[in-house]
Amino acid sequence: MTDFRFVTTAVADFFFPRQCLVCGCILPADRKHLCGDCAEDIPLTYYWDREHNPMADRLNDLIQRDLNAEDFAPGKTVTYSRAAALFFFRPESGYRHICHQLKYHRNFSAGRAYADMLAQRLAGSDLFKDVDVVVPVPLHPLRRFRRGYNQAEIIAEVVSEKLGTKMCPGMLRRRRYTGTQTRLDVEHKVRNVSNAFVFGKYEKVWKFPKRVAAKASPSHILIVDDVFTTGATVNACARVLRERFGREVRISVATLAAVGDV
Ligand SMILES: [Zn+2]
Repeated sequence: MTDFRFVTTAVADFFFPRQCLVCGCILPADRKHLCGDCAEDIPLTYYWDREHNPMADRLNDLIQRDLNAEDFAPGKTVTYSRAAALFFFRPESGYRHICHQLKYHRNFSAGRAYADMLAQRLAGSDLFKDVDVVVPVPLHPLRRFRRGYNQAEIIAEVVSEKLGTKMCPGMLRRRRYTGTQTRLDVEHKVRNVSNAFVFGKYEKVWKFPKRVAAKASPSHILIVDDVFTTGATVNACARVLRERFGREVRISVATLAAVGDV
């Protein structure tokens, strides 16, 4: 921080003290979003370096369940989905505020900063280096209109830029207003979001990134959302993409946070 910015931040802080998003303490002028202790203690998942991790296993279980129901030839394995979140949080954890700030309080600066932390890790991982296109989980148009933005799109924008790929926000469309999912159990969530998504206007919205220009379809799609809880939402998105691009396409997920014990 330059001296001038430091002084102006310090003066602004005097009148409008900024707080740490996690513990609520007053931030010193040289810190942004989190205090030193909370920044140091951020519960990173390190899932970006582990192909098989609890988040990936959970998603792949849901996908396999779908495939079994679709009469998928036994013994034939589907391309394993990769999954990574930047950090964990539990409902009572202060780290949930990082996601809430982006989702409900228009704190784009914090949202982009942590999206950038996630993106840096994805870009440095072998698991995500061949991603062709990044697709944010869409909001229902009515909810998007009310909120004014889609938080998943803000994260996806940062991620796609770091990975050097295109983001395609129109590839999926949410046709059902699913209401809040916070209090539903896993089975209800799966049922609640199944068939909530449809394929968007592909030709119009997907400007092919250079890397896949010669290909008829992508081989690795990365779905981006703010929080991963049961995997039901991502699975519902994956189902639509699989129907359009085939079962061989790898459909992965990256989120800012993973809830609970995944
Ligand atoms: Zn703190």
